[in-house]
Amino acid sequence: MQRDTLVFDLIDKELERQRDGIELIASENFTSLQVMQAMGTSLTNKYAEGYPGRRYYGGCEIVDQVEQLAIDRLKEIFNCSYANVQPHSGAQANGAVFLAVMKPGEKFLGLDLSMGGHLTHGSPANFSGKTYEALHYGVTKDGIVDYEQLESIARKEKPKMIICGASAYSRDWDYKRIRAVADEIGAIVFADIAHPAGLIAAGLLNDPFDHCHIVTSTTHKTLRGPRGGIIMLRHDFENPWGIKDPKGNLRKMSSLLDLAVFPGTQGGPLEHVIAAKAIAFGEILSEDFKAYGQQVISNAQAMAAAFVAKDYHLISGGTDNHLMLIDLRNKNITGKKAQETLDRAHITLNKNAVPFDDKSPFVTSGIRIGVSAITTRGMKEGHMQTVVDFIDKVLMHIDDEATIAAVANDVKEFMKKFPLYPEL
Ligand SMILES: *Cc1c(COP(=O)(O)O)cnc(C)c1O
Repeated sequence: MQRDTLVFDLIDKELERQRDGIELIASENFTSLQVMQAMGTSLTNKYAEGYPGRRYYGGCEIVDQVEQLAIDRLKEIFNCSYANVQPHSGAQANGAVFLAVMKPGEKFLGLDLSMGGHLTHGSPANFSGKTYEALHYGVTKDGIVDYEQLESIARKEKPKMIICGASAYSRDWDYKRIRAVADEIGAIVFADIAHPAGLIAAGLLNDPFDHCHIVTSTTHKTLRGPRGGIIMLRHDFENPWGIKDPKGNLRKMSSLLDLAVFPGTQGGPLEHVIAAKAIAFGEILSEDFKAYGQQVISNAQAMAAAFVAKDYHLISGGTDNHLMLIDLRNKNITGKKAQETLDRAHITLNKNAVPFDDKSPFVTSGIRIGVSAITTRGMKEGHMQTVVDFIDKVLMHIDDEATIAAVANDVKEFMKKFPLYPEL
């Protein structure tokens, strides 16, 4: 077979795009070279339905060791008693949690998508909103999770499960408070830490594990691994909710979750991705990762301060984590226009609804910015002002093609200081 240059040329172009640009999408990051390399290996050929030591296929003696390494390292990172590394994505991990603990039509409570929540927390367009009765809490006018509203809905509606976690929320969570109301009504607390997981792993944010029964995450956001999902329990438990497996047996939560991933929602696991997860988890266990997490938070705070100094309106006034949400209404620019124009200047971010937005989700009044990726590229606090200056220059000259082209050039030049995969 001839090498497929058509596809490989596009892959080369994508690498060039990543190298030349300032990547500010809060859910993106750059993995290490070894994490990427693990995904392009012979492990991609292997079927391994089941779990290490109990597979439905032969020839699994090597991938068993790979998957066990990933599980053991993940348990060490979060001090957990149970981990499942097979979910293909964050959404798949959440799907498995729902399947394990909820019956169709039962109630759960999660953060509203328009207030920063995720599709899988009950959007009417998602399986979670179609299959179950989704109730939502929001944020206050100040942009902080409305814990009082959460508590009053929980007491009135008695949902079976309460989800904490978000995709566009820049503040830490009061897991203890959510657990307290959940205990009053006998609800399960499920934390989806897809965004801040790396900062939690580095010990820089509140630890959800002591207060939340079940925790899921993606592995590609602040955890800086391959695209994928994970499910964890700090303490396994005979579930007090009387939840049964498909055969009608009462089981521990760990085994309900395993069954919900396979055979519940997935077939064969992606062992090449699981190998990459194992490598990324090894990197997280090194001392370097703590320094990375600290730098992410310092960079986010420096960037937030630089935006505020230019009269940008940050939801909640700032950030505790890697991201910030900016309401552009005082600048008279829509999120859509900002995203599209910045893209032409090699600055990549996404439009995002802000709490109490009056524009459609396709237009939006805001943008979401994260610093995980640029921190991986080596930027420090001092570089944040430069990045904010680039953004501000484009937004203040939004219809001026010459200025946008000039910024694009400056961005490309600036990014040469932060080499990306120089080996490739
Ligand atoms: C990103 C994200 C997910 C989904 O992850 P995918 O890998 O894209 O499926 C789930 N929950 C939250 C809160 C997220 O931010």
